[in-house]
Amino acid sequence: MKRLALIVVLVSVSAPLAAQSPGWLEPYRPIAQRLITEAQSNDFTWQRLAELTDTFGNRLSGSETLEQAIDWAVATMKTDGFDNVHKEPVMVPKWVRGAESLELVTPVKQKLVMLGLGNAVGTPAGGIEADVVVVKNFDEMTARAADIKGKIVLFNAEFVSYGQTNVYRTAGPSRAAALGAVATLVRSIGPMGLRTPHTGATVYADGQPKIPAAAIPAEDANRLQRLQDRGVKVRVKLSMEAHFEADAQSYNVVGEIRGRELPNEVIVIGGHIDSWDVGAGASDDGGGCVVTWDALRLMKKLGLTPRRTVRVVLFTNEENGDRGGEGYRDAHMADLKNHVMLLESDGGIFNPEGFGYTGPAAGKATITAIASLLKSIGADPVRDGGGGSDIGPSGTAGPVPMISHLAAANYFQIHHTPADTIERITPKQAGDNAAAIAVMAYVITDPPWKLGFERQ
Ligand SMILES: [Zn+2]
Repeated sequence: MKRLALIVVLVSVSAPLAAQSPGWLEPYRPIAQRLITEAQSNDFTWQRLAELTDTFGNRLSGSETLEQAIDWAVATMKTDGFDNVHKEPVMVPKWVRGAESLELVTPVKQKLVMLGLGNAVGTPAGGIEADVVVVKNFDEMTARAADIKGKIVLFNAEFVSYGQTNVYRTAGPSRAAALGAVATLVRSIGPMGLRTPHTGATVYADGQPKIPAAAIPAEDANRLQRLQDRGVKVRVKLSMEAHFEADAQSYNVVGEIRGRELPNEVIVIGGHIDSWDVGAGASDDGGGCVVTWDALRLMKKLGLTPRRTVRVVLFTNEENGDRGGEGYRDAHMADLKNHVMLLESDGGIFNPEGFGYTGPAAGKATITAIASLLKSIGADPVRDGGGGSDIGPSGTAGPVPMISHLAAANYFQIHHTPADTIERITPKQAGDNAAAIAVMAYVITDPPWKLGFERQ
């Protein structure tokens, strides 16, 4: 009798919970809490990122520091006790910035802040001196097409979003070259900072002359705009030694916790170990590497071995070539059918904001249920659209469902700038993101039943 009454009470209390949360999830609730508690109990994740960024600094493809960081990651993963730790070879482009400068010549002689765009060509040895035409968008450039020949075009497009505005960085130089421009300046792709220049890759179109291209801070772009608007002639001298050298040997780093029952079924989680050659590549993407790597360490620390294999991959050459992501796909093509999920963290590791998901529709409910275990750290939202440059090639070739780890905040204020250092990230943010990924990866790989995102 008493027992029956108790059951009635339990049912009435747990009914609303059961409506939101499938029964299979319940055993994972205490495990998720243990992972979160462990990550929050110390600053290990942040300290590991600090070790990476302090020791090696920025890590451009083809640089010694990238390869040193890769070797350090391999050695350190072995110390962590991971399984199957190894490097997988990938040839990467080697773009070298060299010395560069931008000088205002008219109306006064003065140095301007600048940062050459990645993959750009350099200027002749003496630099290029020319008048500047400032335009706010492509339409304005087209309207002034007759003025462009022999000039340096400055695209002064205010930042709307990365996806919308970075077309001036990627396509702007070739579109200006098509009208006869001799070089391009681009207002940095990011919100107003503290006179911060943002680099990033430009993409030359086939059939157009390749002209030098550099980013300048929003403040400098606005100054040149105001001068032009007052009818003042603006003339600058751009000097860049940028060039490509022969492709260089690099590697993806792989480490695992082998699954206890289905070791051939794999989730891949990771970020990219290369960075631009300014700042320390802390948010882009040392942080993504360290939080995905630390997800495995947290599992190991708590003695958690999931049923399937959790594999961390630190991809090389995301920034100016995507060869790491393509290399992983090519090396694992025959095995992609055994990949249950790919997760990438390449949006910074600020306050967690949840996950983006691309895959079979039934899987979204599963990911949403798992993410509900992360409500206390704000990582419970799940939106449509997962992927990333590193996992994209394998995700498309598989196809394999993909998850993006989301933690946007002020990412684009520091993205590709000298300000991308560990100071932007707190220990709690680093730990929370590692915990979020550990919980997501563990619960995806552990259950014996199908979760809805498997290949049919
Ligand atoms: Zn990145």
